[in-house]
Amino acid sequence: MALRIMKTGLASFNGKRLVTPPKRAASIYQTPEYRAWREAVIARAGRQCEAVERGLRCTKAEPHHRMFADHRVELRDGGAEFDPSNGQCLCGAHHTAKTAKARADRRHG
Ligand SMILES: [Zn+2]
Repeated sequence: MALRIMKTGLASFNGKRLVTPPKRAASIYQTPEYRAWREAVIARAGRQCEAVERGLRCTKAEPHHRMFADHRVELRDGGAEFDPSNGQCLCGAHHTAKTAKARADRRHG
């Protein structure tokens, strides 16, 4: 059987108190401003992925594919949180690829 993840942050183990895992800094995702921004970005794109490869726009779109509102310049890189010009609508695959690239760029400067 697989390991079970403890749900309590303050479980004790051998009498020692475990530290609560840090909360994700990404609490903006719960704000109405974020939801409005996300909706604006996805609606502006016609609810279709905006990624372009070899001159062709990705054809994935709602409702068959989940769309993600992506920050072009990521927040941890100083991008504006709720500026529609810093947003683009991406499908899951393109969002994953973009996030991985941003991470790699950050690592390699
Ligand atoms: Zn796509």
